[in-house]
Amino acid sequence: MTAGHVRSSAVDIARELAPSLADRAAEHDRDSSFPHENFDKLVSSGYTALTVPKEHGGGGITLEELCRAQEILAGACSSTAFAVNMHIHGLAMIAAMDQEDRHAWAYRAVVQDGAVIAGGFSEPGIGGNWWHPTTAATPVDGGYLLNGRKGFFTGFPAATLLFVSAADKDDRGRPKPLGFLLPRPEKGVEVIAEWDAAGMRATGSHALELKDLYADSRYLIGDAGQLPLMFMRGVHWAWCSFASVFLGTAQAALDYVAAAQRERRLAVLDRTIAHLPGVQFRVADMATKLAAARAHLYAAVRADHSVDVDPLGHYIEMSVMKNAVCKLAHEVVTLALQVQGGSALSSRNPLQRMYRDVVAGLLVPPNSDLTAEWSGKQSLGVPVLDEPRWGG
Ligand SMILES: Cc1cc2nc3c(=O)[nH]c(=O)nc-3n(C[C@H](O)[C@H](O)[C@H](O)COP(=O)(O)OP(=O)(O)OC[C@H]3O[C@@H](n4cnc5c(N)ncnc54)[C@H](O)[C@@H]3O)c2cc1C
Repeated sequence: MTAGHVRSSAVDIARELAPSLADRAAEHDRDSSFPHENFDKLVSSGYTALTVPKEHGGGGITLEELCRAQEILAGACSSTAFAVNMHIHGLAMIAAMDQEDRHAWAYRAVVQDGAVIAGGFSEPGIGGNWWHPTTAATPVDGGYLLNGRKGFFTGFPAATLLFVSAADKDDRGRPKPLGFLLPRPEKGVEVIAEWDAAGMRATGSHALELKDLYADSRYLIGDAGQLPLMFMRGVHWAWCSFASVFLGTAQAALDYVAAAQRERRLAVLDRTIAHLPGVQFRVADMATKLAAARAHLYAAVRADHSVDVDPLGHYIEMSVMKNAVCKLAHEVVTLALQVQGGSALSSRNPLQRMYRDVVAGLLVPPNSDLTAEWSGKQSLGVPVLDEPRWGG
């Protein structure tokens, strides 16, 4: 698939694609099938090239443009928005580390050939503690052999490039965490469990095994050992775009439920359900929570991202925001179900899908307990990364 020329704004493309994504969302959710047609459109419209730097022929869009567009896509199909998010924010994170245009080949592949990135950092042995991969990177001539398991690899069915973590050892035997972006190989990667889950069913978030996967050194992101730096330097791209997906899902739940109550009548009422105080209060509560979530997200989007001053503080600020927005988004969709009543759980009703999808916002990184710990320690003047964490 050839990528389309980046023409209109991210929001315009998202608006154009949203109706067809929405039409197919229920079917892909029911079948747990990967939305390849949606990805074809995301590629041919130029959407997947939007975060490629301008000097490499991409859209070079701002974080705000990305989040606004992702909200729209998520309102139509959360799974598609979440899956393409791995590609689109991943590119921006890689570019933020790419001082020497080392990944120009990848930008070219995205812009000219429609390449798509999927990323795997979670592992059975570390969960979401992404800074500490246990996938082994064994140095060999010209690169590394990677061996390990990745628990979730969203977007894998469409991926032509893999964004993965692993760890080598330094001279003293301590782990040296590495990030790679490499072409999806013919061998060395095996799907060990297909994604069949309660929510985000159309994301193809398969579990993979890396078996002697050869990664040339030129595919390293930054220098060896700089994986945590990559997460800190690009964290605003990651957590803001994650939050925008769940915010978009919650907004769609409010829009749906408000429209439905304007039409629905019960025999015991001589008016629509919209006239019931309980319905009005819940809808008002949803709108208030959404406004708070949106304000928090876009304050984070517009924050100072020159992280070299205080990378850890920046990481914490973005993490707190992502978790707060996702919690509110979950509350909004839960309220939507209550407003709608029992029919919300019918498989024909989109609210049940939104509910199952929005739960994922509470589960994906950053870890909420660790975020609370770091944020609390920072506020209290307790050194954030000191070990032992609570002892002494
Ligand atoms: C729909 C979906 C798609 C996903 N796609 C991807 C993907 O594309 N790539 C990818 O890499 N991952 C992906 N993930 C995985 C996601 O990133 C993980 O859910 C996340 O990393 C957390 O890991 P875990 O679920 O194994 O939980 P764990 O990290 O094992 O956490 C389990 C519990 O332990 C607590 N805990 C864990 N570590 C700590 C700690 N250090 N301090 C305090 N408490 C802790 C947690 O708070 C939680 O309560 C996806 C997940 C979902 C749901």
